Amino acid sequence: LLIFNKISELQTHLADKSNTAFAPTISFVPTMGGLHAGHLSLVKIAKQKTDLVIVSIFLNPAQFGKNEDLGSYPQSLEVDIKQLKNLKVDILFAPNTGEIYPESYQFDYDIGYLGTILCGKSRPQFFPGIVRVVYRLFDIIKPNIAVFGKKDFQQFLIIKQLVKDFNLDIKVIGGNLIREKNGLALSTRNNYLNDIEIKTASKINDFLQTAKYEIKNKKDLKLVKNDLTTNLKKYFNLDYCEILNADNLGKINANEKNIIILVAAMLGKTRLIDNIEITL
Ligand code: AMP
Repeated sequence: LLIFNKISELQTHLADKSNTAFAPTISFVPTMGGLHAGHLSLVKIAKQKTDLVIVSIFLNPAQFGKNEDLGSYPQSLEVDIKQLKNLKVDILFAPNTGEIYPESYQFDYDIGYLGTILCGKSRPQFFPGIVRVVYRLFDIIKPNIAVFGKKDFQQFLIIKQLVKDFNLDIKVIGGNLIREKNGLALSTRNNYLNDIEIKTASKINDFLQTAKYEIKNKKDLKLVKNDLTTNLKKYFNLDYCEILNADNLGKINANEKNIIILVAAMLGKTRLIDNIEITL
């Protein structure tokens, strides 16, 4: 594992490699650290796709709101490095904030509809902060493939849109959502939860599975949503729970084939998001 903190050093290394007769293809997996099996599943996908795998660890201040958990977000660089070494990742890019955001760096992009709904509604800074950092990282690394988790489904669609809108020559691949044995979606923020909360948090998946079963069995979507909302509200401070078209997060039309249920819920101070895809 080669570790670079500086853009110039990373780029010199990559330029040297691509000047040889066999320029390597590059996959890129951006993260904010606190790595878990969800992140590692993306690394495994990346490894199958290209010669070289680059993982970034950058806690991106731009995507956090003023009263959010930037200051306490779990970081575990030493353990992360061990995990990346175990997987034989080629390069870790771990820049500091000044490196990613020099004062001159401007990035304005109107995400449009996808940025206004769900997490975009309750966290207005979130997706602008994400496209800001992802565009910058893409520009630095210029990967052939970028792998994102479908745990953050809205983010995944926004990144695909970004790549399309800027005609970037990058293939965006989605990795499946990875869960704990008890069904809880893996998340770095699960570190905030105690044992009792972890048990409670796993109910989100139980409820989503029930809703999926009901939808598969043709239960009316309004009723499914009502029941799911009621169930979630018993245990969580619910931010949203929506059943939408999985291709564009639009409203569901008659005979929709690809459906997704998306949930964001607060358990104490911890924000949990989850989703389940349903193909009819
Ligand atoms: P983060 O470090 O939270 O910014 O996440 C980095 C990448 O890992 C994003 O593409 C996430 O969607 C992905 N990811 C996080 N949790 C999971 C999970 N449970 N399953 C699959 N991918 C995940």
